[in-house]
Amino acid sequence: MEKIVSLCKRRGFIFQSSEIYGGVEAFWDYGPLGAILKNNIKNEWLKTFIQKRNDIVLIDTPVIMHPKTWEASGHIQNFTDPLIECKKCNARFRADYMKDGNFVGQGKAKEKNQCVQCGGKDFTEAKQFNLMFKTFLGSVEDDAHQAFLRPETAQAMFTDFVLAQESMRMKIPFGIAQIGHSFRNEITTGNFIFRSREFEQAEIEYFVKPGNDEKAFEEWVTIWENFIINLGVKKENLRRYEHKKESLSHYSKRTIDIEYKYPFGWSELTGIANRTNYDLSQHSKFSGKELSYFDEENKEKYVPYVIEPSLGIDRLLLALLTDAFDEIKGGRTETTESVKEEEIVLRLDKKIAPIKVAVLPLVKNKENIVKKAKEVYQLLKPYFMIQYDEVGSIGRRYRRQDEIGTPFAITVDFETLEKEDVTLRDRDTMKQERIKIRDLANVLKERLES
Ligand code: ATP
Repeated sequence: MEKIVSLCKRRGFIFQSSEIYGGVEAFWDYGPLGAILKNNIKNEWLKTFIQKRNDIVLIDTPVIMHPKTWEASGHIQNFTDPLIECKKCNARFRADYMKDGNFVGQGKAKEKNQCVQCGGKDFTEAKQFNLMFKTFLGSVEDDAHQAFLRPETAQAMFTDFVLAQESMRMKIPFGIAQIGHSFRNEITTGNFIFRSREFEQAEIEYFVKPGNDEKAFEEWVTIWENFIINLGVKKENLRRYEHKKESLSHYSKRTIDIEYKYPFGWSELTGIANRTNYDLSQHSKFSGKELSYFDEENKEKYVPYVIEPSLGIDRLLLALLTDAFDEIKGGRTETTESVKEEEIVLRLDKKIAPIKVAVLPLVKNKENIVKKAKEVYQLLKPYFMIQYDEVGSIGRRYRRQDEIGTPFAITVDFETLEKEDVTLRDRDTMKQERIKIRDLANVLKERLES
């Protein structure tokens, strides 16, 4: 994990937020490469579920909703974690991470029943702590003007259910999806971007006829899992965890988490829940507006059930980085220079790699080679995220690109000047082949999409 965190900082993927002020706990900045990587992941999600299917529509809604939303959804009452406090130093921990006197999960206290901060052994009784961030709307800071930052994107899909369904003439079964930021005032943080206080979720609320929910649930678990695997998460590092009846969320009939083997242990990457008609019914009750569906064919009206696959984009990104991270001791023997140090290859799937192609002049002190390399760079720039690099030996430049996961590197050399072709090097196989400059755009396009 330390190696991943260090690579992320060094190569511009992820930084601690407000680092110059000492950082803010559990907030992270995506740097220049991280921001592109994250967007690529979100775009793949949109392509898979919105572009390629015709039964799911996308919405994009504010992080603040009408405060009644959270009364209706049960979050004010139930969105809590049990909190205990060390009586000696007042450090706070999640009590549900404590089992038989030991801290488990992502608790900070490691020793048996002992506070990691001061060694104290005396804790307060657990009390319920609401995880929603509060704020005020307008200039008056009183209870009547209190609002919450959403802890999940899902609720807007319920409050907009009729608007989205009618405007797009959707027929059940259909889904409403959203990608957006969510906020939770987590008690126990840590493990890098795994548990942040602001994170991004990609959620689908998939509405089905009551009675068809159990089959739809099963289907979505597989669909969701396949999406993750297809992006590059290794199958052997995933497992399913079925929630026990007694520990289900207040709205859920059935929940399965897909867990990933993170460097710190198996933890939830994503979850699929059968939320029944709980949310639509509750919002109907609290708003006085009917949130039902009329089936034209069978002339029947009902409140649909909903299957919710919910994915944390940051947790997925961390899993993808972990599985892509490959450290080769002693380096790869590619160039004549001997490389003794470790070499990192980030084997990201081509679909999500932030930089697709690097253009490298073999030497930087030959004007005509540099000129040609810049021409190739300009030629490809409209089509791909691309970098130009002329600093350092060619072997070192390959390694810099390998480290950020760039699938292809192009080298412009003396032969290029005569034959109008370049060397195309593959990140994973290190195979090099000559390609005509005029064919480059098409060849790259083909290989990036294969
Ligand atoms: P956990 O048990 O780890 O706290 P949860 O069960 O509360 O997670 P859900 O409410 O099911 O999580 O949220 C749906 C998804 O949102 C999770 O599967 C996860 O990917 C993501 N997620 C939840 N909380 C966080 C967080 N603090 N930081 C990053 N991602 C999160």
